[in-house]
Amino acid sequence: MRPISQASRVVSPSLLSHVGSQPLAGNGARAGVGALAVAAAAGTDGTPASDGASAIVGGRTALLSDESGDAGRGASSTTLRRWAATSGTGRKYQATAIVNPIIATPNAGRAKRIELPPARARLPISASCPGRYHAPMELPSATRAMRIGAPHSRLTLETVALPSLGPQQVLLEVSACGVCRTDLHVLDGELPHARYPVTPGHEIVGRVLAVGGPDVPFEAGERVGVPWLGFTCGECRYCKLGLENLCERAGFTGCTLDGGYAEHAIADARYCFRIPDRYDDAHAAPLLCAGLIGYRAYEAAGDGRNLGLYGFGAAAHLLAQMARAQGRQVFAFTRRGDDAAQRFALELGAVWAGDSESVPPEELDAAILFAPVGALVPAALAATRKGGRVVCAGIHMSDIPSFPYSLLWGERTVTSVANLTREDGREFMRIAADVDLAPAIERYALADANVALDRLRAGKLRGAAVLTTG
Ligand SMILES: [Zn+2]
Ligand SMILES: [Zn+2]
Repeated sequence: MRPISQASRVVSPSLLSHVGSQPLAGNGARAGVGALAVAAAAGTDGTPASDGASAIVGGRTALLSDESGDAGRGASSTTLRRWAATSGTGRKYQATAIVNPIIATPNAGRAKRIELPPARARLPISASCPGRYHAPMELPSATRAMRIGAPHSRLTLETVALPSLGPQQVLLEVSACGVCRTDLHVLDGELPHARYPVTPGHEIVGRVLAVGGPDVPFEAGERVGVPWLGFTCGECRYCKLGLENLCERAGFTGCTLDGGYAEHAIADARYCFRIPDRYDDAHAAPLLCAGLIGYRAYEAAGDGRNLGLYGFGAAAHLLAQMARAQGRQVFAFTRRGDDAAQRFALELGAVWAGDSESVPPEELDAAILFAPVGALVPAALAATRKGGRVVCAGIHMSDIPSFPYSLLWGERTVTSVANLTREDGREFMRIAADVDLAPAIERYALADANVALDRLRAGKLRGAAVLTTG
């Protein structure tokens, strides 16, 4: 490596302390140093340093080489640069930086000792003043979130510290988060595994601010969706059978893991999804549970032509569109006298809409229950043909009353769907890219999460509520 005279400089203490506080790397290492060294090696005019540039980082000299081979090019536009560096002590590391253009503070005095990360780290760097040195983009150490402190309480707006990223995790700036009935179950203490306090929300759309390690398949700035399934162990008997939705040690976003009723969220990238471009952030949010777990229920219902949907909310209004696009007939069942929901269903192409106790004009091949009302199980069985299926799609339901065996006789099936698999998510997103779903949403500011939940509980929502930031 050849030294580049313009690039040897000392990093400012403020820059170091900033990097030192970033929750970027796993294994206890602080990441971002590679990008910092890149920044430090940049020229004062915003031009990145050439191959072999050196930077004094934490009192050590780091020699930089550009593994992508584009060193020395101007950085007037945003470019992605990958750098490898060797510290003065011989430790090697790599970094990926988004350069726009990059920046450093030259000759800013004393430097303090910092650890160079052993693995690749990625850090978005932004600068708005070409030709001037600028600190890397501020990464938050805390975020504002609407939290559930304990069951049966109201959500409160709090500032919550963001933990350091694990090697598989991403830090997201949340732009939208859907409001799901499951959030009400968490709020009402109906899910025994929920932890408190918790930030609810498992229909998260955000953009990647930072990633925790080299295996994360997302880049800074990329749009990512976070669903309910946040972690699986990969080792239990269910995981080994390919039934990760039933994992015995699963983590659930917004329930056992902090979710997206917040300005920032941390998620395990292995469980995140890319979202089709045709949906903007707010309209994409309901896809991540209402759409995705709804789709798992839809698959479980089989491919019969007549599909009954009990409870015409966020999930049903998406499935109705999908079913219609696939040539099926939707029969919508709502709370008694909910004319608005019945009109909504008919607008979306349902061939019939009525009260949940009603007998539909044709026998159903299958029924999906989104309403958490156990009494709907015998009602749906009564409306379903022999050999048909009744799928309970909610995570919680009131007790199912006893009913005559004749309702089940004839090889009717009652089943439930639990959670989702990642394959469900990928398959649903493929369909959502092809079928022009039109999620109906009501937008609420993050601080108004209680209002959105109240309206959901009262059955007043048309489609899905979505919390938006900014
Ligand atoms: Zn949900
Ligand atoms: Zn497992």
